[in-house]
Parts: sequence; structure tokens; C-alpha cells
Amino acid sequence: MHKDIEKVLFNEAQIEEIVGNVAEKINNDYGDSEIVAIVILKGSLVFSADLIRRLDMNVQVDFMQASSYGFGTESSGVIKIKKDLETDIRGKHALIIEDIIDSGRTLSLLKEELKKRGAASVKIASLLSKPARRVVDVETEYLGTEIPDEFVVGYGLDYAERYRNLPYIGILKPEVYL
Ligand code: 5GP
Ligand code: MG
Repeated sequence: MHKDIEKVLFNEAQIEEIVGNVAEKINNDYGDSEIVAIVILKGSLVFSADLIRRLDMNVQVDFMQASSYGFGTESSGVIKIKKDLETDIRGKHALIIEDIIDSGRTLSLLKEELKKRGAASVKIASLLSKPARRVVDVETEYLGTEIPDEFVVGYGLDYAERYRNLPYIGILKPEVYL
């Protein structure tokens, strides 16, 4: 185990099972319909790589990097797209692949944005979710598993751009944040 990790939440075998369950639901729902898998950079890179290899339909892959800002008491926030799709999503089935849903702000805006662009459908597959942290309600059609309100790293998820390469998901030792 990496010296900075205090505790492993999900080991490789557990992650494999979670990803398998998500893939099965997606395969059942879409059947033979072609989808565009939208990999949300950078955190969902590892999850996406494992997930798409378990999908049976034709899968196009594209990438997006986005963040949200400007949420006030009455404003619904603005999406800032740092890297946009190359695909014209109009008329296509978009499947957003995300690592973790926290406040839900970024994903709710992203879903709206893709609908505005005329996608035939927009659904979300997220490996993890922290329901305790939700501010904006966003429907997650395919969820791996819920976790408590703790900051996790590994399997694509970073802290200060580190730990994405760990094959498991864990919690950092408190002294790492000092
Ligand atoms: P939100 O749902 O608040 O709009 O943003 C979710 C994003 O916050 C995720 O895509 C991820 O980049 C980051 N994030 C939220 N919780 C965690 C966590 O526990 N660990 C890591 N590494 N990133 C997180
Ligand atoms: Mg991040």
C-alpha cells in the first residue's frame, strides 16, 4: 500500500465488481443503441477505461473537462468548459462518465448543456456518490456505490494531481494535507 494511504475503502476486486454491475445495467438499458461515452477529465479516466471495455454496444468515446461557478442563492450557476467535445452530440445518446458526484453542480449543468445541444438522450454513470454533500439534485442513472463524506483518492481520483495511479480507492493520512 502507498505510504500516504491510511485506509483502503475499495480494493481492486471490489472495484471490479462495482464496475461490472454498472456495465450490466447499461448493457440491459441501451441494448444495441450506439452511445457516445463522454469521459469527464481527469478523474474518470481509469473508471472509463474499465467500464467501456465491458459495454457490448457500439461506443464512441469523447472527452470533456468542465467546472461550475456562480452559484448564488438565486442563480443556478454557470458551466465553464475547459475542454469541449469534438463530437456533434445532436441526435446521439450521450453517456456521461464521472468519477464522483459531490455537490452535483457540475453534472447538473453539464446534463442541461448536452440536452441543449440536442442529444437524443443524456444519462450519467458515476462510480461514486457522496449523498451527504449534495446541493443540486441530479439524477444519476447508473451509480456504482455511495460513500460517506470523506475525501477519497486512487483509481483516477487525485489529491493535488497525485494518487490517480493507485489501483484501489482509499483515504489519505491526515498529515498529507499539512
Ligand atoms: P461537484 O459534484 O461538486 O460539482 O464536483 C464533483 C467533482 O469534485 C468530482 O468530479 C471530483 O473531481 C471532485 N471531488 C469531489 N469529491 C472528491 C473526493 O472525495 N476525492 C477527489 N479526489 N475528488 C473529489
Ligand atoms: Mg478532481
